[in-house]
Amino acid sequence: MIPSILPTYNRAPMSFVAGEGAWLIEKDGRRFLDLGAGIAVNSLGHANPDLVAALTEQAGKLWHTSNLYEIPGQQELADRLVDATFADTVFFTNSGTEACELAVKMARKHWFEKGEDRFEIIAFTGSFHGRSAAGIAAAGSEKMTKGFGPLLPGFTHVAFGDHEGLRAALNDKTAAVIIEPIQGEGGIIPVPDQCLKGLRDACDAVGALLIFDEVQCGMGRTGKLFAHEWSGVTPDIMMVAKGIGGGFPLGAVLATEAAAVGMTAGSHGSTYGGNPLAMAVGNAVMKIVADDAFLAEVNRKSGAMRQGLEGLVANHPDVFEAVRGAGLMLGLKCKVPNTDVVKAGYDAQILTVPAGDNAIRILPPLNIPDEDISEALRRLDQVAASL
Ligand SMILES: *Cc1c(COP(=O)(O)O)cnc(C)c1O
Repeated sequence: MIPSILPTYNRAPMSFVAGEGAWLIEKDGRRFLDLGAGIAVNSLGHANPDLVAALTEQAGKLWHTSNLYEIPGQQELADRLVDATFADTVFFTNSGTEACELAVKMARKHWFEKGEDRFEIIAFTGSFHGRSAAGIAAAGSEKMTKGFGPLLPGFTHVAFGDHEGLRAALNDKTAAVIIEPIQGEGGIIPVPDQCLKGLRDACDAVGALLIFDEVQCGMGRTGKLFAHEWSGVTPDIMMVAKGIGGGFPLGAVLATEAAAVGMTAGSHGSTYGGNPLAMAVGNAVMKIVADDAFLAEVNRKSGAMRQGLEGLVANHPDVFEAVRGAGLMLGLKCKVPNTDVVKAGYDAQILTVPAGDNAIRILPPLNIPDEDISEALRRLDQVAASL
């Protein structure tokens, strides 16, 4: 008999009843050190007092009005995002996959508005852009698309890192190229800065739009507000979600005025997107994260975590192969099956997240205290020893 919860997940047999900073408390009372942060979502830890205050204050006033009326929190958060980035305009969604839907629609409408027949979108193998029709068509992997055909047409896939293949695929019919500056689900695989620069130049040469999917790598995760800032290259359209809501469902599409030219009144919408509750939390997150001193701390903590992980790889060469990533978006490529490492972590009461390419992801809250980093490294050492 089918379970009452649609069985699309293989869940670990644990459930958490409370959280405090980087810690989760299981219903039996055990405390787990959370290096997954709800897959890079709880950017400021569990039960962060500033976010709890922002949400509960708004909850006592007004939850939802729909986008038929002005929502002051949207204006405030959109202004913050526009001030802090390449973007001129923002649309709020509830998730990353909805951000993908709009990014694709926006890119195609851009060309329609200009009277050009350009709809082809180039994406990369190993990528992840969400589970909607556009998201799985963009990622293109058999794991995500099999049985769901016919897929949304107009996507071309290039092998990650295949510069020749990209040059061959990109032409004056290309509407846009979509890429994660650091692949998350794919296994924490960064795109080198010079490749992002080359990609920007290649897009400019044929007039194609460039879409960055920063759903996982954005919002301070890499030690800059957005990961692409390390390269100095900017996109035309950017997808954001996960960390921006700190655990409240929130996403956004940021765009330049030129890229968004087709998105006129009535061309897109969302009942919930940017509702007052989400905006209260999103503004509270942005106030904390979009701050040079906060981001400097992320970089300092990243250095400590990374150094510890390098030591772990050196001490357990049969278990781990390499550390990669940036900021507090780190991956450990494993030699034993990555799911064995994640499971051994459960015994040591430490949570990590598996990813592609036999990696585990280390995505702690961005404000993880130094003593929790030390404790995480001790527990990961214990995990490796147990394997
Ligand atoms: C998680 C993720 C998405 C999808 O976000 P949802 O909120 O799960 O819909 C899209 N792109 C990337 C890079 C992601 O990590």
